Amino acid sequence: MQSNVLVINCGSSSIKFALIDADAGVEWVSGLAERLGQPEALLTWKIDGAKESEAIVNADHRGAMQAIIARLQDVVLHRYGETLTARLAGIGHRVVHGGESFTASTLINQDVLAEIKRVSHLAPLHNPANVLGIETAQALFPQLPQVAVFDTAFHQTMPRQAFLYAVPYTYYTELGVRRYGFHGTSHRYVTRRAAELLERPYEELALISAHLGNGCSAAAVLNGKSVDTTMGLTPLEGLVMGTRSGDVDPSLHEFLAGQLGVGLGEVTQILNKKSGLLGLSDLNNDMRSLETAAAQGHEQAQLAIDVFCYRLAKYLAALAVPLGRLDAIIFTGGIGENSASVRARTLAQLAILGVRTDESRNQNHGRLSNGRITQDSSTVALVVPTNEEAMIAADTITLVR
Ligand code: ADP
Repeated sequence: MQSNVLVINCGSSSIKFALIDADAGVEWVSGLAERLGQPEALLTWKIDGAKESEAIVNADHRGAMQAIIARLQDVVLHRYGETLTARLAGIGHRVVHGGESFTASTLINQDVLAEIKRVSHLAPLHNPANVLGIETAQALFPQLPQVAVFDTAFHQTMPRQAFLYAVPYTYYTELGVRRYGFHGTSHRYVTRRAAELLERPYEELALISAHLGNGCSAAAVLNGKSVDTTMGLTPLEGLVMGTRSGDVDPSLHEFLAGQLGVGLGEVTQILNKKSGLLGLSDLNNDMRSLETAAAQGHEQAQLAIDVFCYRLAKYLAALAVPLGRLDAIIFTGGIGENSASVRARTLAQLAILGVRTDESRNQNHGRLSNGRITQDSSTVALVVPTNEEAMIAADTITLVR
């Protein structure tokens, strides 16, 4: 049977895609259609490492998807002399919010699609785009099975004491107000991978994983199940991120609205888009640029990095509480995988967990030491590159079969 999966991650103005052979674990095409709906709309893709691009002027989601499919058709015809449909086992969609309805990846049928729409009020910026991606793919490939892989599903194992806010209980039962957590596909992928690197059964490990990209979250994973995480009802809660504040006093909304004379919506926008590393540094949301600026003496860049690492260390220690013991801390995402200095700064504040960084292993991003960046006598910390697309492809092929 075919093992090729088309992975689709549909955002409000972009579509990320990848063509993955799930059995071989090989991603042979990946790409991005961006600035959809605008004259500058652009499709870029990478085949066997070589980059190509094509203007798709004013293309909307459907137009972009058609352009993506046309390119993939060419690639598959050239490689196999067959149509794309004949070589595809199924299509896997990233869906941001599954509410409490979805505890695992799911084959999409009319009921599933209706349920994804029903919980869309929980992620009004993301789920409608994900639904659009599913409906467009269904129209283009009516005969192929489609699978939804949810960012929230992995965290559905959190116990009530971890996911409830201390607000009137009926807000949970009637409005769905609770902590859901996100980045579940990444946390699941890297914790499984960590078990392989540690050569121990996944179901017997106590792990903390830190996904540090533009969005950042950490999760406590006990015996293969998420038991707590830093993001909440929305991805705004928890760690300091590129442009998101993470935790603030909930009274800040009212305070800022009064002081700035703006509405609540605008405050939410400020906390999501103008805060975090960008807000603190007054310079940039990009960690790499901030590290360069800090090295050249930019004090606010250094301050932003300090707040980022301190908040992270504080949360990693807090996530040890539900675990009771700790087998490894995992760093992943663009910052987690590439910034030796963020990892060192963070781990230096975690002596309480018995962590001692090995400078040379850390500088090599653990590549020469099976992921390890700590000394042999230390609590283990690992760098594990994430691969959400591979996880989506693996789930899709499992469900399709
Ligand atoms: P996204 O969440 O958009 O997928 P990524 O996981 O690619 O983002 O992470 C982006 C972040 O990773 C940016 O802050 C970027 O500066 C940071 N990053 C990437 N490479 C490095 C590096 N070599 N050193 C420090 N930070 C890096």
